[in-house]
Amino acid sequence: MICIECPKGCVLSVEVENGKVVSVSGGQCPRGEIYAVAEIENPKRILTSTVIAEDLSLKMVPVRTDGPIPKVKIFEAMAEIRKIRLTNSVYMGDPIIKDFLGLGVNLVATREAVK
Ligand code: SF4
Repeated sequence: MICIECPKGCVLSVEVENGKVVSVSGGQCPRGEIYAVAEIENPKRILTSTVIAEDLSLKMVPVRTDGPIPKVKIFEAMAEIRKIRLTNSVYMGDPIIKDFLGLGVNLVATREAVK
């Protein structure tokens, strides 16, 4: 895999047994191993999506998590996002749901939508 933690883009050789990383080589700094272990054992992503707004200036308001969440939680997160109906004005950066799914990140608006 290619480490994406900095522009050097080191090519990492990763040995995996039963879903666990047992060795990493090829990185020019310790961040390469940290990246490889996280990416294989608990990959995370920033989730971006939209939520439905009612009687606001936008019909759909773009949102994202303000930190990465485990990929295994993406479907659960999308199910929660589909339930949301925004009825009050929101501004860029406003939290829509704090501590989203108990994951320690907030779901925040990335555009304003007003009454
Ligand atoms: S291993 Fe270190 S030097 Fe290489 S790409 Fe990753 S962060 Fe950059």
